[in-house]
Amino acid sequence: MSYDRVRETDPAVADALASERERQNDTLAMIASENHASEAVMEAQGSELTNKYAEGYPGERYYAGCEHADTVEELARERAKELWGADHVNVQPHSGTQANMGVYLAMLEPGDKILSMELEHGGHLSHGHPANFTGKTYEVEQYGVDPETGYIDYEDLAATAAEFEPDIVVSGYSAYPRDIDFERIQGVADDVGAYHLADIAHTTGLVAAGVHSSPVGVADFVTGSTHKTIRSGRGGIIMCEEEYADDVDAAVFPGAQGGPLMHNIAGKAVGFKEALEPEFEEYAQQVVDNARALGERLQEHGFSLVSGGTDTHLVLVDLRESHPETTGKDAETALEEVGIVLNANTVPGETRSAFNPSGIRAGTPALTTRGFGEEACREVADLISRVVDDYDDESVKAEVADRVDELTDEYTLYD
Ligand SMILES: *Cc1c(COP(=O)(O)O)cnc(C)c1O
Repeated sequence: MSYDRVRETDPAVADALASERERQNDTLAMIASENHASEAVMEAQGSELTNKYAEGYPGERYYAGCEHADTVEELARERAKELWGADHVNVQPHSGTQANMGVYLAMLEPGDKILSMELEHGGHLSHGHPANFTGKTYEVEQYGVDPETGYIDYEDLAATAAEFEPDIVVSGYSAYPRDIDFERIQGVADDVGAYHLADIAHTTGLVAAGVHSSPVGVADFVTGSTHKTIRSGRGGIIMCEEEYADDVDAAVFPGAQGGPLMHNIAGKAVGFKEALEPEFEEYAQQVVDNARALGERLQEHGFSLVSGGTDTHLVLVDLRESHPETTGKDAETALEEVGIVLNANTVPGETRSAFNPSGIRAGTPALTTRGFGEEACREVADLISRVVDDYDDESVKAEVADRVDELTDEYTLYD
């Protein structure tokens, strides 16, 4: 994309857009929630559908002129059903958070009870954080991971559920590196008469490709973001059984949103089509293989990984043992200087703060999109290790930055 027309109208924004494209080309995106959508997805997202009001659902809109919007939304829905094997799909949520809001609004009353994972252990704001609408609207109790193993403490979860008697149990996390036993969590929810919402925001692509356990057909509700491992542009999605379809659809519109972002739904449709190609399964398997290679090499360099490894697209590094004086922010800042972009993250049993925590989270979805394999990811682990070991040493950082330049030139992204 040239941004020529943006430049004519608004050079300041055109400069920022062009610089952002350069930034993405020239750095290694390792924020685990990020990915690079294809140019086909981005073209669809930049289409004339941004102009169209299509309140309602295909075939039952509140406005005229929706025939092409209907085509696009139907395609997105049908492809999503095929990708995840869902009975009913709503592709209108503007984001993953809006998808969760749709489920809560459909099934809960204000004051009802949510049982979810602590943010510090990998949960998400939209699972009941006090700063989020969920924390203000519902009563929230939390579970965590076993501090020794880093794995979900399913027994603690069952005990907490029995005591708290939640209306909904939420699974699915932002910084959990392991597979999830959705059946077991559904059992916990069933035992206490609660619904189960599985929020697979991070792992949508891995679940679609069958390289991570699927909650579809197990949990009552499944929500996701469409811009993370599934690479279909920014947005959200809800899946459920037919019996909840009308409630969920009414909660999204008119309950939580007005007109759907039809241009983003077009991006979802195109991205889902890409994900139905056999190559996507290879991609998703490579994402996981790459995360494992990255994690193992980091361990060889002495880093300690929460849970001792990964089954997914991300590793969570606890710096406290290997680098007790180094905070997650120190590491994040130094790595950004050399072009490795990841984020500081809390770790289970956090002893610092959410803003300057003790861990870093690193994911492989975006690197894998640009063609990285395991050997290249091992080298990235070497580079991370060099920088974190010597984050005040300008000459080390200069050398690593040069190597990052070479890697980003070798693994090209956008023209
Ligand atoms: C990313 C994420 C979301 C949704 O985020 P949005 O930014 O609103 O799309 C929801 N739940 C979890 C667990 C996440 O990691």
